[in-house]
Amino acid sequence: MCPLCEDHPECRAHFITSCSATDQVRQKLLQPLLALMSPAGATAAQEDPELLTQVVLDHSKCWELFPTPSEELNSKIEKFTARLCYALHCMRTRKLLAAKKIIIGYIMVYWLITFLSGERTEYHGE
Ligand SMILES: [Zn+2]
Repeated sequence: MCPLCEDHPECRAHFITSCSATDQVRQKLLQPLLALMSPAGATAAQEDPELLTQVVLDHSKCWELFPTPSEELNSKIEKFTARLCYALHCMRTRKLLAAKKIIIGYIMVYWLITFLSGERTEYHGE
C-alpha cells in the first residue's frame, strides 16, 4: 500500500502519475510536459498511467507522442521530466519524514507517561 495516500498499491506508475499526496507537485510540473506533446499524445498519456510513466522516465521510446522530434524539444522534455521526478521525490521524502517524526513523538509521549506513572519496569539483571 502507498505509504503517502494509503489508498492505492504502491507502484512506479502510481507514484509518478496519480498519488493524491503529491498532486500539488504533479499539477505544477506535469502540465508543461503535456503541453510539449501533440494533442493526441497528451490525451493518450493522460489516459494511460503506464504510458505517462514511460514518457517521464524515458521519453526516447515515445517520440510518436510528440509533434516534431528535435534537440530543442528533447532538451525541454528532459528538463521537465527531471524536475518532476526530483520534486516528487522531495515531497515523498518530506511527507515520510514528517510521518516518522509523529510516530517517534507518540512513542516518546507514551514512554514519558509510562515512566511518570511508575509503571515502567526496571531491568535489574539476573
Ligand atoms: Zn499514493
